[in-house]
Amino acid sequence: MRIFPRGCALIFLAVITAAWSNGATTAAPHISIALDATDAPRKIFHAQLTIPASAGTLTLYYPKWIPGEHAPSGPVIDVAGLKFTGNGQLLKWRRALDDNWTIHVEVPAGVQEVHASLDYLSPATSEGALFTAGASATEKMSVISWNQVLLYPKGWTADQLMYTASVRFPSGWKFGTPLPISSQTGDEVHFDPVSLYTLVDSPIITGQYLKIVPLNQGQSPPVEMDIAADSQAALDAPQEVWVAYSNLVKQTGILFGATHYRDYHFLYSLSDHVAHFGLEHHESNDSRTEERTLVDPELRIEHASLLPHEYVHSWNGKYRRPADLTTPDYQQTMQDDLLWVYEGLTEYLGEILPARSAMWTPEQFRDELARIAAQLDHRPGRSWRNLQDTADAASMLYYAAHQWDSWRRDVDYYDEDELNWLWADSIIRQQSKGKKSLDDFCRLFHGPPSTPPIVKTYTFDDVMNTLNQVAPYDWRGFWNERLTNHGPGAPLGGIEGSGWKLTYDETRSEMMRAWEDDHRTINASFSVGLIVKEDGEIEDSIEGMDAARAGIGPGMKLLAVNGRRFTPQVFRDALSAGKNGSQPLQLLVENTDYFRTFSLDYHGGEKYPHLVRDDSKPDLLSDIIRAH
Ligand SMILES: [Zn+2]
Repeated sequence: MRIFPRGCALIFLAVITAAWSNGATTAAPHISIALDATDAPRKIFHAQLTIPASAGTLTLYYPKWIPGEHAPSGPVIDVAGLKFTGNGQLLKWRRALDDNWTIHVEVPAGVQEVHASLDYLSPATSEGALFTAGASATEKMSVISWNQVLLYPKGWTADQLMYTASVRFPSGWKFGTPLPISSQTGDEVHFDPVSLYTLVDSPIITGQYLKIVPLNQGQSPPVEMDIAADSQAALDAPQEVWVAYSNLVKQTGILFGATHYRDYHFLYSLSDHVAHFGLEHHESNDSRTEERTLVDPELRIEHASLLPHEYVHSWNGKYRRPADLTTPDYQQTMQDDLLWVYEGLTEYLGEILPARSAMWTPEQFRDELARIAAQLDHRPGRSWRNLQDTADAASMLYYAAHQWDSWRRDVDYYDEDELNWLWADSIIRQQSKGKKSLDDFCRLFHGPPSTPPIVKTYTFDDVMNTLNQVAPYDWRGFWNERLTNHGPGAPLGGIEGSGWKLTYDETRSEMMRAWEDDHRTINASFSVGLIVKEDGEIEDSIEGMDAARAGIGPGMKLLAVNGRRFTPQVFRDALSAGKNGSQPLQLLVENTDYFRTFSLDYHGGEKYPHLVRDDSKPDLLSDIIRAH
């Protein structure tokens, strides 16, 4: 997943999950689900399920731990209209007192199947709920996540339970999905029976404006983009965009040397009215950004790594998955301690692939790496929360407010592990005298043979053993240190080991400008230690830096700078004008209806990060991002 905003024990999902089942010799029930999506623009979805049952209590679950979201984020609060019937009679039900995702239905004698109806209330605005539980439907398009519209019976695993699904779409809407189609009549589509695991792994994108772009024509397995937008104009991207995404499929194929899908669909939503994030699946990803992302060059470079990140997850996260994150269904706790491999390695690969695919120039790649390194270099929360704890606490940290990000730390394994995996890559290249790289690790760990979607679990030891197979080194010591150290400063061994240095000057890079514009934020982290929204609201004030020491905190609002009404430009100009001067920087701030002026004795000017070449070392970084 991505916000905006692991010698390998060969264990397949079917094998481990069998041990979890109830041991019953009866076949797992075959459930049908008919979804009426015609009310998508009203943001309500109607589902009808038929579930085989027998007399007694039928325990049903609404999916709770959502794969890839790393948290108990199943939006049970948005289920309404829940009713059960058997032989035409209304059945009694009650929610479990110790788990709101569990429903007990009383099934009378003689009833052999229970009919369930439910509505899913899709969020009506793009504020609030996050990820797939966030806004997912507009006047012109929608994404359907199956876990939101179904229940499943207790006693079987997600790959034992079979579902036959159908969907009725709004009139004339087109759709894309990896789910195999059985038949289509008008706006109604029937799908082949699949396991619950595959169903939940196979979202559908649908809309009036839907563009399908093949990315590897004539090759197997096929890969395509299925893009739904709020306008036709948003889909009319220049040819170079489609060439870049074709490059991505080629470069990722070369990196891993095998695939683990039958076919692959980039389900891409372009809308200002849906939640923005990316979520991985074996055979697709559900990625969502602003409506004009593909036609606006600045938005394009800002989001260039999103689809590469989600695509890499088909190998790293779906096919190879931490053993304790692999659960038999959606009720058991998913343990997040190895997310520094699941998400951290994906983040690293998802940032070098856009450079290898010509979505970014080498300079844009370096400026993005500099921004990430600089942000971590101004992260005092590293002094109390180590990298391991950002993973251990991930199911909460994804939902933390942005205020106090720098002191609380959030899911920093995305950024910190990009630096750490770069460090590991540079060590492999040095140890092997240029003969090996992290690409070799990826081929060993995630590569041949090609398979359909399966799960091959791993542990910490499996990662260390494979690294040692590529290049013998004290990898256990290296990663233990990386996971438990408290700085000071960002882990810069990878940048420095690959021939570059992190520096600051007064010039905003194109990547920093794109980040600021997209977040509608001024990033003064590296000068006075503030992140300020365009309207003056202070999102974060970095502990230990000038603004925090003067008394400014998150949630306050910046009203005036040196006596003049705040605008982003007035603020930037004041930072710049104060360089090497003697007058303090005066900030008039509103805090819970009170006004105060803070004086900052700051004279460092604007500061933005860049990478500069260290000529005393070989330029491994340029080798790392070279196309193959
Ligand atoms: Zn991810």
